[in-house]
Amino acid sequence: MNTQTLRLWNRQYLAAALMSAVITLLITLFISYEQVEQHKQLQQRDLKIKVQQLSEWLDINYSIINNVLIDMEQLSKQCSEDILFDMRSIMFNVAPVVEMGIVDANGQLVCTSWKKHDQPIYVTPPPTEPGLRFLGPVNVEYMQQPAFVLARSLKQGGEVNALVRISWLKNQLQNRSSELGFTGLIHSDTGQPIIMNGPYASPKSGLALPIDQPRVLKGEFDNGLDQVAAYSPLITFPDLSVVISDEKKIIFGDHSNFSIQGAALCLSVWLLLTLLFQYLIIYLSDSAHLLKKAIKHGEFFNLYQPLINASDKQIIGTEVLMRWQHPAEGLKNPITFIPEAEEKGFINKMTSQQLKNCYDELRPILIQNPDFIITINISSNHLLDAKSVRELIHYKGLIPNLVLEVTEDVLVDSNDDRIQKAFIKLTAAGIDIAIDDFGTGYCGLHYLGQLPVKYLKADKCFVASIGTDSINSHVLEMIVGLSKKLNLITIAEGVETPQQVAQLDKLNIEIHQGWHYSRAVPANELIKSIEITKQRVKGSEENLTEASTVAG
Ligand code: C2E
Ligand code: CA
Ligand code: CA
Repeated sequence: MNTQTLRLWNRQYLAAALMSAVITLLITLFISYEQVEQHKQLQQRDLKIKVQQLSEWLDINYSIINNVLIDMEQLSKQCSEDILFDMRSIMFNVAPVVEMGIVDANGQLVCTSWKKHDQPIYVTPPPTEPGLRFLGPVNVEYMQQPAFVLARSLKQGGEVNALVRISWLKNQLQNRSSELGFTGLIHSDTGQPIIMNGPYASPKSGLALPIDQPRVLKGEFDNGLDQVAAYSPLITFPDLSVVISDEKKIIFGDHSNFSIQGAALCLSVWLLLTLLFQYLIIYLSDSAHLLKKAIKHGEFFNLYQPLINASDKQIIGTEVLMRWQHPAEGLKNPITFIPEAEEKGFINKMTSQQLKNCYDELRPILIQNPDFIITINISSNHLLDAKSVRELIHYKGLIPNLVLEVTEDVLVDSNDDRIQKAFIKLTAAGIDIAIDDFGTGYCGLHYLGQLPVKYLKADKCFVASIGTDSINSHVLEMIVGLSKKLNLITIAEGVETPQQVAQLDKLNIEIHQGWHYSRAVPANELIKSIEITKQRVKGSEENLTEASTVAG
């Protein structure tokens, strides 16, 4: 592995590692976000369950007291010793009750569980509506402590009531939600606190009143803190609601649950993704994959460089040259992809497409001039593949003057049986060979006598040396000499200047090719150029005839 490949590999590895790190991070963030959200939902649900349990517990206690008061309705005609005894035993058995009392229709407290009052004590006259109600908190005079009054109106007027210690309620609320910052009892209609354990606060955005069903609220509270609060109205006293609340961070907790398993999972995902991406990058940037895709999508196309007849400067043929319209890199020169295509075994397929396109595009020329020379570049790959040889022969039937350009190194391989056989078949089909880049390759010239070579294409370096002192400037003369001796036609490649044209004409080189005449162009431009040169030659011929007539 050379340093450049190593560097490329490292870069690809780094890209894959980074890409998978980003994806792993995104996945982890997403999962943790989901987990946190799920955790919050669960905590919220827990809080709602807790507040409902608390209100259910209060309801149970109030129901017990209610039942006791219903029983008392039957008894409470007057304050007999039996009734006093019953009231005391209720006080004794029902934990929250600290006192029972009977009030007559005028609001006079007739007796309490302690005693019958001889001196009249007046309280608020009881309403006439039946059912359970509450008052308070009221201050219990003999204990100087606040208490709730639960009362039921009597049919004959007056009420029976029970005093419930507020401290008992407070303790119970606190004990049952000890881990929370605030528990309390509030008015369902106004949201006003009645009993408080902890610092009471209400949501800044306001509380939708009345509280008629269990609900959870979160956000900023009027104590400036981010809080969550759960509310639940009592069934026994819908006017009352239980609330429990605390700061968000306490209820939702710190959910950064780093675990060894989680870290191991992240690492495995990252490694897996890295390998996957690396494989993908290598696969996608693999030249074989790219070439295969380019063939499939028809990204290769032909340009045509005219072959010029030296004597009348007419276009008598063309060399077909390939280009790659790469979707990302733009137009690519053959030198950047042909060697790879040959090495990876795609060149035959590419030439096959090339021949088809060439025939389709140049058919108008061939209809007018079947002798139009069309040269294509082939390599050993074509000669070693029987199918390609058959295809070349097939196209010879469509393009009568099809010429194969082969470089000398291909001819050196002609000792290979398969290549020899291919040449025999091609010769039999009447296909001509041009030796491309002649003079630059292997110099064993024996093949020239054995193969159906018709053209020698002198390499452009020899044309470029015209007018210089370089030794190459003499090689061109030698090539022409050899070509004439062997009855071959010479093509000069890379003709760029009028000086070179003049020198080539002096050397009697039959065919010229180069930028002086035309670059490699699309088929329609070639067709146009052929028309233009035809007109020009015709025009100069007519001028000549006119001139000779005048002279005559
Ligand atoms: P080549 O077969 O020697 O083709 C001639 C190259 O010289 C072409 O380059 C052509 O554009 C360039 N050329 C023509 N006139 C001038 C000139 O006046 N001055 C200079 N400096 N250059 C000139 P291109 O098209 O880039 O092709 C490069 C090589 O790629 C070709 O050399 C040939 O070996 C290979 N190639 C091109 N097309 C194909 C193809 O379809 N199949 C195969 N197998 N090889 C191809
Ligand atoms: Ca060529
Ligand atoms: Ca050449």
